[in-house]
Amino acid sequence: MKTFAAIEAGGTKFVCGTGSGPHNLTTTVIPTTTPAETIARCLEFFQATGPLEAIGIGSFGPVDLDESSPTWGHITTTPKAGWQFTDLAGAFSRALNIPVGFDTDVNAAALAESRWGAARSLANCVYLTVGTGIGGGALVNGKLLHGLVHPEMGHIRIPHDFAADPFPGVCPFHGDCLEGLASGTALRARWGDNAPQFPPDHPAWKLEARYLALAVANFVFTLSPERIILGGGVMHQTHLFPLIHTELAAILNQYVQAPQLLNSIHEYVVPPGLGPNSGIFGAFALAQEAACHF
Ligand code: ZN
Repeated sequence: MKTFAAIEAGGTKFVCGTGSGPHNLTTTVIPTTTPAETIARCLEFFQATGPLEAIGIGSFGPVDLDESSPTWGHITTTPKAGWQFTDLAGAFSRALNIPVGFDTDVNAAALAESRWGAARSLANCVYLTVGTGIGGGALVNGKLLHGLVHPEMGHIRIPHDFAADPFPGVCPFHGDCLEGLASGTALRARWGDNAPQFPPDHPAWKLEARYLALAVANFVFTLSPERIILGGGVMHQTHLFPLIHTELAAILNQYVQAPQLLNSIHEYVVPPGLGPNSGIFGAFALAQEAACHF
């Protein structure tokens, strides 16, 4: 049995795991402090395990995914203090002397959901996380979407009716982009810190569902995914899903002729099949791929 290492690298914590399969991972959680301290504590965990085949890292970003770039595997211009231009992939592959797979946290989650979760056996899916920020990853024709750098789905522009919602948005770069209007940070800024406790019939949720449905419609129109998975802290409000389905059906207006959208939209926009494990399972999948490609 080959043992793989996996890291879900987040802005507040690093989840590290080792195991021979996604369902038998031994995990530990390490707080994100300085790069030197956080990486050293992860390495201690991995070095206490037996021989490792490869490591996979799904990271917060932005990150450099261009394999011809001298800064491939680095976190680049993140606002996270102290983490700008941190060579994450290099630090682990050199210290452990094993192949490394590296991608965004949301691409990793999309990969895991397509292997073992809600998009199982589908070659085209989108994973959108709606939490403190908003980010999206995509599997297109069976491959994770990179392109110029990697998609920044949280920053798409959506219609903003200032009469219905005068809130200016919280994105430091764009104001009222999707993340600026619909992230958990935006919800708290617009409605107050008790927003997560609002009852399901509060107008906050109808507005949130409207914005997320607009975003989902844009992904339907551009990437034509076979399923869209909505994860992250805000989506723990599971009553949002039926609101999003209704809004999405109205926005699409039967234009896209696919039975998934016309007849079973509630099975098209779904929560993660892997619950909170999409990220770490995805990092595990990246390790498996790194071992194959080495
Ligand atoms: Zn933005």
